Amino acid sequence: MNDLIIRNALIVPMTGAGNCFDGFIRVNDGTIVEVGAGTPPRDAAAKQSIDAAGSVALPGLVNAHTHLYQVLLRAVWEDLELMPWLKRIYGCARVLTPEHFYLGSLLGCVESIRSGVTTVCEHNFLNPGPECALETIRAMQDAGLRAVFARTIMDAGEIVPECTKEKPEQAFRHIEAILARHRDSKQLSFMTGPNTPPINTTADLLREVRRFADANSLGISAHVAESHSVVDAVRRQHGKNGVVEFLQQFGIPAKNSVFAHSVHVSNDEIKILQETGSSVSHNPVSNMMLGDGVAPVVEMLRQGVNVALGTDGAASNHSQDLFDTMKAASLLQKVHHHDAGVIKPYDVLRMATLGGARALGLDSLCGSIEVGKRADLILVNLDNAHSQPVNDIFSQIVHCAKASDVITVMVDGKILMRDRQLISLDEQKILSEAKRANRDLLDRVSRMSF
Ligand SMILES: [Zn+2]
Repeated sequence: MNDLIIRNALIVPMTGAGNCFDGFIRVNDGTIVEVGAGTPPRDAAAKQSIDAAGSVALPGLVNAHTHLYQVLLRAVWEDLELMPWLKRIYGCARVLTPEHFYLGSLLGCVESIRSGVTTVCEHNFLNPGPECALETIRAMQDAGLRAVFARTIMDAGEIVPECTKEKPEQAFRHIEAILARHRDSKQLSFMTGPNTPPINTTADLLREVRRFADANSLGISAHVAESHSVVDAVRRQHGKNGVVEFLQQFGIPAKNSVFAHSVHVSNDEIKILQETGSSVSHNPVSNMMLGDGVAPVVEMLRQGVNVALGTDGAASNHSQDLFDTMKAASLLQKVHHHDAGVIKPYDVLRMATLGGARALGLDSLCGSIEVGKRADLILVNLDNAHSQPVNDIFSQIVHCAKASDVITVMVDGKILMRDRQLISLDEQKILSEAKRANRDLLDRVSRMSF
């Protein structure tokens, strides 16, 4: 007997543009074992059956770049450009506690589940102590999400507090300890990386981090060319035209690398991304909020660069909502190019699903609804005033659907939310503890000078 059958769904499997059909999905032992049109065979009994009439079944969304704990810092520093904003974010390392990381990250996970995200890549960059990383990981595991923990390193930069600067060897020992502790953790994988080269990394770190990543089969996550100021720094300090060009001499662009933002990259650098198989996490809401600029997403897609979608942290987004982000990604390219047809809704949805899975090295497990993949699935209710009538399913997922339309979320075959009710998390308790953590953090921050 199967563990689960989803019936009567409009299935959008993300296996090819335009592919969608009414059908069913059978799940056994956490794996998708059948995806079919129409009704399931009469003998396909299951322990659990979900009638998905009125809903679309999608692969769970993949948030390829975030900082979960930052939900505690929503709307705290607005109206600032990247550098003065970063100075405050980095400065928080002096007052953040492991408890802030746990409670903030757990609230970020609740928001993620509620908006249909089944995989998050947590780009971790503030580590005043080793417990901060461990508590973030514990939150993601308690929430039941599929997660990539990208434990990055900073070893320089005047805006980085001393307490979170590390010598490469010292950081590598911490990362090895995390890897040893979580070697057998299901649903959890790891990356490393330089946080924001070159403004908080030395050339020595870039060389060493590539060597360490290769030795441990880790992918690399980095903030790349987010604002003009970062590109100015690479020109001034290293005589290179751009950050990607600078990183190339250290072998950082590669098939297992994902570069968040990549707003200010030249055509030559897009070519480097394509030739090396590097992925980009496009974070349009964060880029707009900080006034960074518009990433050349259309050019990247045209040249065959794999593009994923990320929210970025809530300190610059201010949410973890990928539906919001999909709509922003679509509209931003249209207005930037003065061309309503410059980007297709299917391509935007692909960034939020298979593109993200591929960027994180998880596309053999998730990102599409296919037999053999893990059952990371969401059901999104379309039977409401803002989604009916459905004339173009891909456009309407990107432009009409809302995070609050996600009714059911499943990771690895385990249901995390059913009919908008979280199954294994006490949401009220998490909200009240996160509010307490927020008050404590802001009280500490108010006593700092920047
Ligand atoms: Zn970021």
